[in-house]
Amino acid sequence: MSLLDGLSKAITGGAIEIVDLTAPLSSSTPILQLPEPFANTIPFRLEEISRYDERGPRWYWNDIHTGEHTGTHLDVPVHWVSGKDGHDVSQVPLKTLVAPAVVLDFSAKAAGNPDFLLSVDDIREWTAEHGPLPDGGWLLYRTGWDVHSADQEAFLNADEAGSHTPGVSADCARWLAEEAPITGFGVETVGTDAGQAPALEPMFPCHELLLGAGKHGLTQLQNLASLPPTGVLLLVSPLPIVGGSGSPARVLALVER
Ligand code: MN
Repeated sequence: MSLLDGLSKAITGGAIEIVDLTAPLSSSTPILQLPEPFANTIPFRLEEISRYDERGPRWYWNDIHTGEHTGTHLDVPVHWVSGKDGHDVSQVPLKTLVAPAVVLDFSAKAAGNPDFLLSVDDIREWTAEHGPLPDGGWLLYRTGWDVHSADQEAFLNADEAGSHTPGVSADCARWLAEEAPITGFGVETVGTDAGQAPALEPMFPCHELLLGAGKHGLTQLQNLASLPPTGVLLLVSPLPIVGGSGSPARVLALVER
């Protein structure tokens, strides 16, 4: 049996399960809210063209209005000034879009502290138990924040001091960018950086350092709780928007059951 025949049979027979990590995309999908004076993205919206009516008697279709960074989406290097000479979303290497992933579950630590920041020591503790991060693969960071993903207000969790959502420390972002073998970092929150990341040095360190290193971000992931810590194959499918800084993406995980 060929490798692909074996994979197909394992999927059909249930030995390999497909887990959908994608947030449903609708007009109520939470979106990032930057403070004044910065410009913001639009909510996702369908605009009906016809629906079995005089505009098209036998067919239904829509135009879509969306930002590149809406819902579950991929960030690519050109999104940030530090990566402006890097690749756009139409140029992402295919081996980044189909790649191994590990899941680091820090939901217990984040549960009591929405401003929890992952440290390099946290990752070293994890790798001591589970083995190294995947070369050319993804680190998926579970915080439990996907429980809020249907509610814009709870998802952004903002007060006068800004948003309070878990993320990574600046030191950890630098380590992920410069020392970890991964090509991408995925989160359950609205962006890869913590809610309080505007106050870190550098500001928005995940964006600044990972994208500056030619790496990638994935946001608003769901169902990480149903994945094992290791042995995940991640499938990421952004639109190949020419010149685009990112794209909404369907993100699927293959896991052995
Ligand atoms: Mn983004």
